[in-house]
Amino acid sequence: MVHIGRWNDKTVTISQKINSLTVSIETKNETQVFSFDKSGRLWTALVEKISYRRGLNGAIVAKWSSGKEVLHRKWLDQLEQEWLLNLAHQTISTILREFNYSTHSFSPPIYTTTIRELSTIAEISLEFYINDVSNYHSIYKPVGILPPDQYISVVLQLTEGCSFNKCTFCSFYRDRPFLIKSPNDFDQHITNVKNFLGNGLSLRRTIFLGDANALVVPTKKLIPLMEKIHDHLDVKKLGGIFAFLDGFSGERKSTGDYQKLRELGMNKIYIGLESGNNQLLKFLNKPGSAQDALNAVRTIKSSGISAGIIVLLGAGGKQYEANHISDTVDIINQMNLDADDLVYFSELIESEGLEYSQKAFAENLKPLSSAERQEQRRRIEEQLLFSDSGTPHISTYDIRDFVY
Ligand code: SF4
Repeated sequence: MVHIGRWNDKTVTISQKINSLTVSIETKNETQVFSFDKSGRLWTALVEKISYRRGLNGAIVAKWSSGKEVLHRKWLDQLEQEWLLNLAHQTISTILREFNYSTHSFSPPIYTTTIRELSTIAEISLEFYINDVSNYHSIYKPVGILPPDQYISVVLQLTEGCSFNKCTFCSFYRDRPFLIKSPNDFDQHITNVKNFLGNGLSLRRTIFLGDANALVVPTKKLIPLMEKIHDHLDVKKLGGIFAFLDGFSGERKSTGDYQKLRELGMNKIYIGLESGNNQLLKFLNKPGSAQDALNAVRTIKSSGISAGIIVLLGAGGKQYEANHISDTVDIINQMNLDADDLVYFSELIESEGLEYSQKAFAENLKPLSSAERQEQRRRIEEQLLFSDSGTPHISTYDIRDFVY
């Protein structure tokens, strides 16, 4: 329900949904927007044409455009975070005061429950956030990365880390050994996550099994762990379970195994294909061949679970460019992807300490510019063929945007 009120020269709009509350204040020159989850946590904001998104871990990313469709991004430091949080909660407090806590100052009148919710939000202080972030860190090991369509999931760390952990371009899980939670530990973890999210659970869509390749857990061991999720959460209502799979290594699951996982709510599995070119996979130190990834996708899809395929743009620089394009097209075209599947293009993000960068330097690889990587994407995309029953969603996977 949307309620509109006037205050000085401002229009105040309160949008009350079952999973969030959004307040926008509009003047001639500017619109400020603040959205909160049902626990009162700031979730997103728009101030002076800069959009903000806050993760459960307390990190806040700011994004804005210079007007030429170039998007800028900045992670707020602590003072900037405090400034935004104070602004959001003080704005709600001011609105309540100016409207004299009246349900009738808005058209249509807001409900008394909305006044109560606004009052709770107005009372939230920085101390709430300090405790909230501290609780978060007591429950979660740092969540390394999620597919972009899973940023708003409920992450459950059934495993921690990556069972392989040796790809040269990836440093997400180098800080921790691979660990499979025991049924008791996982049960406690789910309880902790649920308690932590509180009413904010309603904002969450889907369940994501962390970390890098939870599905490497043998099926016999995985099933009782997945059953635990059903003891605590309405999997169907939340939109099902999603996970990464390192499609190259680990226990090879059969169609029957995946069917069992599907019965337990498994909806989509994301595979970092990176490339269809085996020489490049070797250079990236991926643990298998493109054929292994293709076999995994075919088995997954034969069980009725959909697939998300991730391609690494710019990998191998100019030396690998032609083969990266042709072999990636070739392997994806054999996957028979359809409208339920996804293809992500993720740009290689290099940093000094990354093993990839050191190897690329040693082999004198010529890196691709951002424009050349986009051209690489265009050339792959234009040659992709999909199932007659529909085309997968094709999108950008920018790991620098990740927030949970
Ligand atoms: S399998 Fe995935 S998470 Fe593990 S090291 Fe390789 S890219 Fe990183």
